[in-house]
Order: sequence, then structure tokens, then C-alpha cells
Amino acid sequence: MYNQKSKDLLVKKLESEDFNRTTCSFYKYVNIVDPLTFRDKVYEEFDSLEILGRIYIAKEGVNAQISVPEKNWGIFLKLISNIKLFNDVDIKTAINDGISFYKLVVKVKKEIVAYNIPKSKFNMDIVGEHLNTKQFNEAIENSNTTVIDMRNIYESEVGQFISAEIPLVEKSKDLLPEVRRMLKGREHHQVLLYCTGGIRCEKASSFLINEGIKNVKQLQGGIIQYAHDVKKEGLESKFIGKNFVFDARLGERVTEDIISTCHLCGETSDCHKDCKNDACHILFIQCSICDEKLNGCCSIECKKIASLPIAEQIKYRKNQKFVDKRRYFKSTKL
Ligand SMILES: [Zn+2]
Ligand SMILES: [Zn+2]
Repeated sequence: MYNQKSKDLLVKKLESEDFNRTTCSFYKYVNIVDPLTFRDKVYEEFDSLEILGRIYIAKEGVNAQISVPEKNWGIFLKLISNIKLFNDVDIKTAINDGISFYKLVVKVKKEIVAYNIPKSKFNMDIVGEHLNTKQFNEAIENSNTTVIDMRNIYESEVGQFISAEIPLVEKSKDLLPEVRRMLKGREHHQVLLYCTGGIRCEKASSFLINEGIKNVKQLQGGIIQYAHDVKKEGLESKFIGKNFVFDARLGERVTEDIISTCHLCGETSDCHKDCKNDACHILFIQCSICDEKLNGCCSIECKKIASLPIAEQIKYRKNQKFVDKRRYFKSTKL
């Protein structure tokens, strides 16, 4: 955890850069015997190329969301192709620019997708068939088809496929049991899964196949790739709204539709905000009028605290119980 002051410094440093950056992401399920050593190697190499972002490494693979200086893009691609574990990895670039990351974090995790299901429940050699954008658009129209959004509620709230069903869970460990429950009686259906970049569907599709659901398919490269293809090939977008992304931009617009409302006043809005009170940092949707009224905070209490001197604010930060984090879910309409 770092305080607002150091974040401000990092932002200033970023803004003074005289080169552009490209935001991109990649993942790979691959057996990594020694994640700690691999972590150090990745950190050292990426840091030397001034790459920023968040990378998770686990025994089951790697998941990376990063921002690469354009001047180093060629060297970055070469570096990736030279790292054996990254062999054939598919690098997806973002559709919208803007500051995405402020620093480089490379962490060792237990899993790259924290579904918390035992190894006996999936086999990464058997995953759902990958559909490209065109194929996914066609498949969605078939009868006896169930489309499931494999992301969190706060992600689907601002953007989703038109006919998608949204699992109502708060924690990713509850997601797969809930999806299994939703498919009860529909085991013969064509099941179409999608997520942000594809990583969550890989594992989820393997789990569902293991559960006896035979016709499981997944969107290749996720919404990120879908949005690219729709734009490039002039296809109809069956995804409406925004694609939520896990960086400072908090979303990439796919279509002009705004499907959600401000959590405070109910006005149409799909702007996610991270409450400016450091003791809170709740993720919520806020319209520009409420943003102005509350200085980017989620409530009057938070606005008051955020306007105090830093030393006073720290007292609140120590009291983690200050905010009920579940408030987000109480206020969402889904
Ligand atoms: Zn509002
Ligand atoms: Zn707040």
C-alpha cells in the first residue's frame, strides 16, 4: 500500500515522460516450477525496459497487464519471444489510450485465477472450444444457447453481451459453483463463456467440461479482442457498453450505450470511481454532478475525511472497519 502523496509523484513522473506508452495484456497457463525465481527475472527484465503494470505469477502460469514505452516495444516483443515460458503468448493491446499503470508490481500468487477449486476438478489440457468474434456472434444466435458472463458484477454492470446471464456472486471462489447451479437442467445447451481477456474462461470451461457439460465454448481473447475485431472489421457488436479493465482507466468504451446508473443519485452513468478517501477506496459508479459535489468521494463522510490533513487521515486509515465494503453490492441494481 502506498499513500496518495507517492502516487501523486508517480503520476507527475508519468506525465513528464516524453514518449508514449502502449497498454497491453497477456496470460498463459503453463507449468512454472519456481515462481519466485521467475518473478525476479521478469521484474528485472521488465523494469529495465521501463515497463509498468501488474503481473501475477503462479505455479499454473502467468497473467500480465502492463504498459510498455513505445520506444521499447520492439525490444519487449523480442524479450517475450526469448523467454521460453512465454512461448507463443498472445499479446492483446488496449483499444483506448491513457495512463493505465503507475508502477511495476510482479507478485507470486497461489493461482492466476483465484477460483479456489481443487486440481481434480479441472484439466487445463481439456478446455472449451475457442470462438473468434465472428463465430461468437453466430453462436449466440443458435437456439438452446446459454451465454454466461464470467466476470464480477461490477464489471458486467457497465457492459455485457445482450443475452448474457450474470452470476450473482461477490467472491470469485463462489463463481464456479454458482455457474454450475445456473446450468442445472441445461446440460445439453451450447454454453458460451466470456470474460475480459479470456483467462477466466480457460479454467472455467475446463471445470464445466469436467462437470459433464459437453458443449462449452469460450470467446477467444475475451472482450478486449472482440472490441478490436468489431472495430476493425466493422462487425455488429453484440456486446453493449463498456469493457471494465483493471487499471487506472477502469474501462474501455465498446459501444455508446450506457447501461448503468450513478450509485448515489440514479442518473445514467457508467463511470467507475475509486473513492478518493484512502480509508475507503470503494469502487462505485458516479455521475459527473455527484463527482463534483463530493470531490470524487463516495459519501459526505468520505469527502470530510479526504479534505483533512494527511496526519489526521492516517488515523482513519488504521481503522479498516470504517467502510462496509459490501455497500457496493447493496447499491447495485443487478
Ligand atoms: Zn449522481
Ligand atoms: Zn468512500
